[in-house]
Amino acid sequence: MSRETVVEKSNITTESGSQMSKHDRANFDRFVMSTYGRFPLVLEKGEGCRVWDNEGREYLDFVAGIATCTLGHAHPVMVEAVTKQIKTLHHVSNLYYNSPQGLLAEWLVEHSCADRAFFCNSGAEANEGAIKLARKYGHTVLKIDEPVILTANASFHGRTLATITATGQPKYQKYFDPLVPGFEYVDYNDISAVKNAIGEIDTGDRRVAAILLEALQGEGGVRPGEKEYFQEIRQICDDIGILLIMDEVQVGIGRTGKLWGYENLGIEPDIFTSAKGLGGGIPIGAMLCKSKCDIFQPGEHASTFGGNPFACAVALAVCQTLEQENILENVQQRGEQLRAGLTEIAEEYSDKITEVRGWGLINGMELNAEIPLTSADIVKAAMAEGLLLVPAGPKVVRFVPPLIVTAPEIDSAIQIVRQVMADLPAEKQ
Ligand SMILES: *Cc1c(COP(=O)(O)O)cnc(C)c1O
Repeated sequence: MSRETVVEKSNITTESGSQMSKHDRANFDRFVMSTYGRFPLVLEKGEGCRVWDNEGREYLDFVAGIATCTLGHAHPVMVEAVTKQIKTLHHVSNLYYNSPQGLLAEWLVEHSCADRAFFCNSGAEANEGAIKLARKYGHTVLKIDEPVILTANASFHGRTLATITATGQPKYQKYFDPLVPGFEYVDYNDISAVKNAIGEIDTGDRRVAAILLEALQGEGGVRPGEKEYFQEIRQICDDIGILLIMDEVQVGIGRTGKLWGYENLGIEPDIFTSAKGLGGGIPIGAMLCKSKCDIFQPGEHASTFGGNPFACAVALAVCQTLEQENILENVQQRGEQLRAGLTEIAEEYSDKITEVRGWGLINGMELNAEIPLTSADIVKAAMAEGLLLVPAGPKVVRFVPPLIVTAPEIDSAIQIVRQVMADLPAEKQ
């Protein structure tokens, strides 16, 4: 099919954009599956915490590829690591050893509670690995015929079949049943729900082998875990010998002001997963565990791209930069600054904003459930003012800028949110 025919047949619905971008977007929509509801914005270039669209408009990027671009865009450390490794050796199979994989594993183990790492390419894939490991532990160590994994309502663990099943949100599961057996759900931050569920499930061949939780629920509305709850969870797991798995895909790698989300809760998981921020935007995932559950044998789990020298060298550079440049301190300070600014706005518009919450540089602004205003309304209005934000559910606006964000950039973002609130149309009040 010729390019002309394609454009003619395509339905151009977006209002703004040059002829060229309409042309590009029409082709894009013709050839790419409609799995995403996209904003009519074509991004072309990025530097630091800023990105530019194809008309040269500048945006402050408080999405960062959804908590992924740890060092922002075009960071010199990433440019160097990418360039150096692609010129040296970018991919070899796990049939052989490669040193970036070993070095990244060493860095992660030395900077966490884990003893060993497995590498893959995404958050969902990391969680799949954790689920398989927990099931094997259930069968071989706990002697459970039908191991069950408990997860939380409003959680998010990915889009593969097992991870949508683990995800405690029916909207991600609709049309994809039959789901994977062996998952049960409890309310987050509710310890009696966990105790009751274990009591009900542990009656015969089917028993709980692991509990899988986020330290802070990201997609589920930026809901921080409670310290007391997690400490009791840890105690229960120790008492009955089951595993605690933490999904650190969104909150790990410094996002909360600590390297790992679980550090905010004063506990250590047996298994945890990482992805999003780990490669600073280069695709990589990891599943780490303590030696007591390090029980995979050769051939039981694998991934073709997993742990290739390219992704590992870049992720290692990102991790070392976090440490050497004291970026966690910046995350804590900029996070406080952002929450202080948003809290002021929330007090001013207390009829519309009910809460500002979060840790470090993962923060949410929750809108009043009683009014029609949605997080998407705020995100669209902020985009028009040059600030990129992302919803975390219909009523929570999420702020997840690069971890290198500066004080003036936080101030600009706060200014724009203030402007957006002041300019809200009457019907949204
Ligand atoms: C994004 C996310 C995932 C899924 O990661 P993908 O890389 O998209 O597969 C899993 N868990 C959490 C907590 C996430 O935020």
